[in-house]
Amino acid sequence: MTKERKAKAPGCPSCKGPVRPRVENPDFPFCSQRCKAVDLSRWFTGSYAVPGERVEGVLDRDDDQEGKGK
Ligand SMILES: [Zn+2]
Repeated sequence: MTKERKAKAPGCPSCKGPVRPRVENPDFPFCSQRCKAVDLSRWFTGSYAVPGERVEGVLDRDDDQEGKGK
């Protein structure tokens, strides 16, 4: 078994499918415009969902609920 030294394309980051070369693919490194959009939206969604940034206004009423029993 001979291993060729071929620069293998990593594939589409979104669907892992084959990607056409940059010269003929305006959506490089994605395989299609759709995958490009999918990946971008995923990116935005991830950056918006920042953990630990919760609104804890409910805790303001902590004293209020003390007499209401448990
Ligand atoms: Zn793709």
